[in-house]
Amino acid sequence: MTELDPHLLGTRAKAMIDALASISADPGRITRLFLTPEHRRAADLVGRWMAAAGLSVSEDGLGTVRGRLPGRGERGGANGARRLLIGSHLDTVIDAGAYDGTLGVIAGILAAEHVSRTRGAMTFGIDVLAFGDEEGSRFPFALGCSSAVAGAWDEGWLDARSFDGTSLRDALRRYGKEPTAAGQEAYDPDEAAAYVEVHIEQGPVLEAQGEALGIVTAIAAQSRLSVALTGEAGHAGTVPMALRRDALAAAAEISLALEAIAREGAADFTVGTVGRLAVSPGASNVVPGEVELSVDLRSQTDAVRDRALERFRNATAEIAARRSIGLAIETLHHQGATACDAGLQGRLAGAVEAGGGRPVRLPSGAGHDGQAMAGLCPIAMLFVRCKGGISHNPAEFASIEDMGQAVAALIRFVEGFEG
Ligand SMILES: [Zn+2]
Repeated sequence: MTELDPHLLGTRAKAMIDALASISADPGRITRLFLTPEHRRAADLVGRWMAAAGLSVSEDGLGTVRGRLPGRGERGGANGARRLLIGSHLDTVIDAGAYDGTLGVIAGILAAEHVSRTRGAMTFGIDVLAFGDEEGSRFPFALGCSSAVAGAWDEGWLDARSFDGTSLRDALRRYGKEPTAAGQEAYDPDEAAAYVEVHIEQGPVLEAQGEALGIVTAIAAQSRLSVALTGEAGHAGTVPMALRRDALAAAAEISLALEAIAREGAADFTVGTVGRLAVSPGASNVVPGEVELSVDLRSQTDAVRDRALERFRNATAEIAARRSIGLAIETLHHQGATACDAGLQGRLAGAVEAGGGRPVRLPSGAGHDGQAMAGLCPIAMLFVRCKGGISHNPAEFASIEDMGQAVAALIRFVEGFEG
């Protein structure tokens, strides 16, 4: 093990975070969408950092920047050698924070540089990956870059259109890529030993526990539903309460039922959210006749999520029947949990403890590139405390000390890894 200076590593990470934060489509705020001129500039900067760190840099057909440190005795990154993949993403949401995604790419570069400087190479190769579309902010799909790397590219995505009407095919051409080359450079599963990602937590758990770093147990199972309620609109002054079929009152009760079910699953990190209500006709003097509400339900495991979902459906049906409200539930999204590898979790936890930390185990409620990478190889994620749990917001913040501890832990993890 090499002596590490977390403060220096954190200071370097912060300078790199700031440099990437200055690359934006909008002055004064951070917006960096997939395959835009801003993505190009960020990818070029990251490529220069990788080269300076001693990595050989390439870019695949979807713009994922790959920085490669060959394993000992491996000539020029030949196929067949086992590789440790370290990555995250360069794209952002609109009006984003500076740390989401970028920290993981930077941590990978700093860790690979440390190995390159202090040892030259490990017995396994190291590839640092900077993906371009984790957020799904431009096109109606997400994780396209990591899906391609993992061998799960969907040709149909080429015809997907961005919110400004550009097809992915055209966006790739404008970015200087040949669309038919998209998704053609997946890793061989025998070649990929593991995927590890450092990421800000984007939630308040680590801060509440007073710890800088967390080990992700799984990326949560998620379901999204649309619930349509049909009652009867009527005059707010003349329809007696006993004769009303108020769709909004039913929606309120359904929202509280979801909250109660999710609270009971708190130990399994179950969370339930009604984030949107569309009320019709939406006038102050009319009993609401129709309401559509969005439901987002997540939990640590598929089984717990599925049980909570079943209870929610039953509760909703009971509430609607009791109130004589018509009910239609549409499932918009139903994604299973992605488990993080137990052995890798243990190694990451050991690397955190070696730096004096007490690693907190927690699932990720948010989606990540690891979901796609898990189709290729075992995955692990290291979470970094962020202030107030705030993310996807300009106020997003992680301290130099916490970032330094994260990079140091990643370096220890790499040094202890056996391809
Ligand atoms: Zn992210």
